[in-house]
Amino acid sequence: MTPRTTRAQRLSMPLARDVVRDLAAEHGGCVRPVQLRRTDLDTGQVEQVLVPCGHTLATVCPSCAERARTLRAAQCREGWHLDAEPVITPDPADDEQRMWVEHRAETQQHRDQADAAGDDTGGLDELSAELDEEITHSGIRGNVLPSRMARRHRSTRRRQDAPDLPRRTVTPTTIGKTYTAPDGAIFRPSMFLTLTCDSYGKVSADGIPANPDAYDYQRAARDALHFAALFDRLIQNLRRLTGYDLQYFAAVEPQKRLAPHVHVAIRGTVSRAELRQVLAATYHQVWWPPADTVRHDDAHLPVWHEASGRYLDPATGEFLPTWDAALDAIGDDDEPLHVARFGPRFDAQGVLAGSRDSARCIGYLTKYLTKQIADCHQAQTGTQQDHAQRLADALRYEPCSPTCANWLRYGVQPRNAREGMRPGRCTGKAHRREYLGYAGRRVLVSRKWSGKTLADHRADRKAWLLETLGIADTDPARYQWEPVTPGDSDHMPPAQRLLHVVADRQRWHAALTLARARASGQNATPDLSATGRAA
Ligand SMILES: [Zn+2]
Ligand SMILES: [Zn+2]
Repeated sequence: MTPRTTRAQRLSMPLARDVVRDLAAEHGGCVRPVQLRRTDLDTGQVEQVLVPCGHTLATVCPSCAERARTLRAAQCREGWHLDAEPVITPDPADDEQRMWVEHRAETQQHRDQADAAGDDTGGLDELSAELDEEITHSGIRGNVLPSRMARRHRSTRRRQDAPDLPRRTVTPTTIGKTYTAPDGAIFRPSMFLTLTCDSYGKVSADGIPANPDAYDYQRAARDALHFAALFDRLIQNLRRLTGYDLQYFAAVEPQKRLAPHVHVAIRGTVSRAELRQVLAATYHQVWWPPADTVRHDDAHLPVWHEASGRYLDPATGEFLPTWDAALDAIGDDDEPLHVARFGPRFDAQGVLAGSRDSARCIGYLTKYLTKQIADCHQAQTGTQQDHAQRLADALRYEPCSPTCANWLRYGVQPRNAREGMRPGRCTGKAHRREYLGYAGRRVLVSRKWSGKTLADHRADRKAWLLETLGIADTDPARYQWEPVTPGDSDHMPPAQRLLHVVADRQRWHAALTLARARASGQNATPDLSATGRAA
């Protein structure tokens, strides 16, 4: 018989389910495994397989997030000091890319038919030029056909000014220079670079503005919104100056003052003087309509006009200018809405392959990847919370993109406008507190970094594991996979799945330990009876 316990005693006992979850996490198992039913098409045998959720945030699934981080570290390590050009085969086109090219083909045919019939082709030529832009935008390299059509006037106006940099002919090589030491040893140094945004006002060591009223929150917000574009410009300029197809692995993180900064692993080296030159010449101009005067506050919002599909001014009944019209109205003497730049201070160090420095830098690069941007530095004090709130307020009404609902506030109809848009309620990620204005990807990797995708790195890991354990990979064509839903008789509730994860992980761990012992000369046979489950 169990002895009687008080309520307080019972409450202080660990909850069984929490223990299972913690155990799963402790063993590196996924805490939210997805259940799949696997049918062996040769034998008809059905097996339940638990697949890891694959989430990259530690708050959601610590094990999957840690695995994703390790994979990124492997990717970073592999590309940093490559001494041979990576082999790249183009990815097959995706559906969106195919769609644009199909549109383009159709338009070309219509244009050529109109031309043969002696009709005007101006409209179709213009459409082709726009489709070419969409094709490029969707991530396809090159043109389907060299276009003779001049771009629209406003596109040329919005062109970025050429940076003030000497331009070298870019050679197609992606690996850095080597240096020979007096003793004949050959070095191929690489670089670790940290770049920050400019100052918005003095801050203390814990990131708090000395004078919040003088801190430039608007510029901070706009720099964060356009940080990804600024980074692209930096890379273009570095390639231009160094004259080779420079490759990078970069991680974007917030500083304590909540402005983004970026750690960059670069293959090859750039001198400090050259870096200073590139930073001074690198900026990103945002050629958007003006957004500094509020024309419609929340009490006087533009009204949707159903029949025309446009927004109109409630006071005058006039249509708001469309996005394209507002861009066309930007005159030659106008200033860009914003010019984003990096701050003048940077940190740069040379790193040699396989060194302690290299491992430490890879640690920096992947340190915060399992956290949301805003969770990297949790506000501890009231003043830190105030600072975060002021930045969130600045971001609330700042337009995040041409389609942002906030444009209505500044008297411009956003691109692709629809009914029900409200300034301050844009659903763009950049406005959400957890993003601090930066909605871009956290890891930016150039195409020829390691010559492999994350999926390739994952496959490498699996191959290593299978080889270590001495088991053959399964033939994917042999199995049929289906998701198991709560209504199915073989559906496992989450608690049951977690018990399986713990049992499986324990067996895997034992098997791996034995395999390693065997590899180092001791003899043993691992038990691998349930190798299907790997969650
Ligand atoms: Zn998971
Ligand atoms: Zn927005």
